[in-house]
Amino acid sequence: MSEFAGKGAVITGGGRGIGLACARLIAQRGGAVVLLGNDRETLQGAETTLRDEGFTATAIIADVSREADIAQAMEQSAKVLGSLDILVNNAAIQPYGTVASMGSAQWDGVINVNLRGTYLACHHALPHMLRAGRGSIVNIASVQALANQARVAAYATSKGGMLALTRSLAVDFGSFGIRANAVCPGCIDAPMTRFSAAETAPGREEEIIRQWGKAQPLGRVGRPEEVAEVVAFLAGDRASFCTGAEFKVDGGLMASLGVALPD
Ligand code: NAD
Repeated sequence: MSEFAGKGAVITGGGRGIGLACARLIAQRGGAVVLLGNDRETLQGAETTLRDEGFTATAIIADVSREADIAQAMEQSAKVLGSLDILVNNAAIQPYGTVASMGSAQWDGVINVNLRGTYLACHHALPHMLRAGRGSIVNIASVQALANQARVAAYATSKGGMLALTRSLAVDFGSFGIRANAVCPGCIDAPMTRFSAAETAPGREEEIIRQWGKAQPLGRVGRPEEVAEVVAFLAGDRASFCTGAEFKVDGGLMASLGVALPD
């Protein structure tokens, strides 16, 4: 499929998990991809893997919470890609904590990566999109933007903020040919889930992940590739009339009250 032929995409946190699945799918469909992130070793490994698979991929090292890094990374991305048509804001962190237990430095750290990082990436990608008169931004939020698990106050706040930011991007830039949408994954078998499972019940990760999967009406956790399918759809022209929207990829989690009836 050559849906993305001639198009360039930046995927933040693109070295592994959901970000890498998005990068691979866009590349499989003909796009050139930049994997942007702060984990040099993982990113360079992913760049090599995608190149070995025959795709056009470049790793660019940048911390999304640092404006100087992002300004430079977007300039470099536009040069490497030829055009910066697609931005997938996927980089995030999810430390556990309540408003009482989290100090302000930890709170700021989460907001700076997840929310400010998304703003910074958009701020520095938009001039390229505005010059071209086209662009598509996909923000990876979470079901936690809509309903909260315990002890994820900063993370859920950042993800809720991403939905509001997505709406602003849609409203402010729709008339310039730029669309912005958000994806809200449920529980996906990706690194963030594995870290959370290890923290919740050390040594019992598989059991915990299975349990989390059972809470979703489809009865299992999702795969990164299942999120990537929706991201690629939104990134491309097949979603030409979609903007400012939120798409759940959660196996039905948000449709359910989770109340089991007796057999
Ligand atoms: P992940 O930890 O592999 O993804 C996060 C990526 O962001 C990593 O590549 C990491 O290196 C990068 N990153 C972190 N801090 C950064 C920084 N300061 N600068 C640049 N890059 C940075 O986990 P994942 O599960 O693949 O999650 C990907 C996205 O999906 C995240 O936005 C996450 O919130 C969201 N999400 C995941 C799930 C899930 O179940 N795994 C559910 C809902 C939403």
